[in-house]
Amino acid sequence: VKRKHSGKDLTIFSEMTALAQQNNAVNLSQGFPDYEIDERLKKLLAEGTEKNFNQYAPMSGLPALVDNLITFNQTRKIPISVSKENITISPGATYGIYTAIAAIVNFGDEVIVLEPSYDSYVPAIEMNGGLPVFVSLKNNFEVDFDALKNAISEKTKAIIVNSPHNPSGKVWKKSDWDQLASIIDSTEIIIISDEVYDILIYDDIEFHSAFHHPKLRERCFCIFSFGKMFHITGWKVGYILASEELSLAYRRVHQYLSFSVNAPSQYALAKYLEIFDANENRKNMQQKRDFFLNEFKDLPFSLKEKAEAGYFQVLGYENISKVSDKEFAIWLTENAKVATIPLSAFYHEETNTGMIRFCFAKKEETMLRAATNLRYL
Ligand code: PMP
Ligand code: GLN
Repeated sequence: VKRKHSGKDLTIFSEMTALAQQNNAVNLSQGFPDYEIDERLKKLLAEGTEKNFNQYAPMSGLPALVDNLITFNQTRKIPISVSKENITISPGATYGIYTAIAAIVNFGDEVIVLEPSYDSYVPAIEMNGGLPVFVSLKNNFEVDFDALKNAISEKTKAIIVNSPHNPSGKVWKKSDWDQLASIIDSTEIIIISDEVYDILIYDDIEFHSAFHHPKLRERCFCIFSFGKMFHITGWKVGYILASEELSLAYRRVHQYLSFSVNAPSQYALAKYLEIFDANENRKNMQQKRDFFLNEFKDLPFSLKEKAEAGYFQVLGYENISKVSDKEFAIWLTENAKVATIPLSAFYHEETNTGMIRFCFAKKEETMLRAATNLRYL
């Protein structure tokens, strides 16, 4: 069968998790929590089926979930005002990104991707006949707006951005959004903004959504994931914010891809939004990041940029080895029994970044086991 994209046959996340299992290694590679989820979520999911939310939900989402997302977004520190025409529930963020791309990209359109970037963007562009155009982030993972401007052509249909950023945890400031808005002001370019770590931001850094920006609001898809928000990556539910026009375009595709999303989960998520404490959630995750940094500070890895958000910390290993990051990640899994993600997995060309990504969305004992294993490097 002819390949439809330049991605891998097996993603790096599947590959490294499998390698971790084979080697009985501590798995700090793929981004998923190993701690218990909130008991109330389990009960609410069961309640969803008991209350007979067992048939198709409406195509754009369960009304109770949509309503509660309107409130949730209005009560953010920097409020995002949305109405039901702007919200579509999706079976996860990966699907949301794919569907947004499918909704707007035509054969031969260019889509700009900022590297390093999450691994699903490029295959999604290519499967829809689009051409990815790559722009490197700076060494500190900030955007090089001159390079971005230079990459724009008449064929540019969209730019995919990601804040908070996977893998680095970098968060876009208001001035970044202003610069982006001014670069695309005289164009028709659409922004696809992956914001799945929106509520996991540390050290009182503020979250700015593209949807909050007056100049971007009418021309962006913002993509969110309950998997990351509520630590339930296996539920695969998320949502999209977009203008009324872009939401219609999105739904024209969505209704023929999955049509609607798992109904009992939507019931549970709607109810959970009424009791969820975002501050508590953020504090717990910040504690995990700090625990990780503290346990790793005496190990021979180098810290370049402390994660401002999300599930991950990137570290350099130049004091341990000069081999490629992929080789190093495999070696570390097999020998030190700690699995990570090589940063080159977030680039389209083969490259050696000298860096690996650790997931700190783990129990303290798990991070401690990893640090102990690494002490005997
Ligand atoms: N975007 C980024 C930046 C991610 O890290 C992830 C992984 N959570 C996703 C999208 C996909 O999220 P989901 O599991 O909801 O598809
Ligand atoms: N978002 C997760 C990560 O970056 C992985 C999701 C996946 O396995 N595709 O680790």
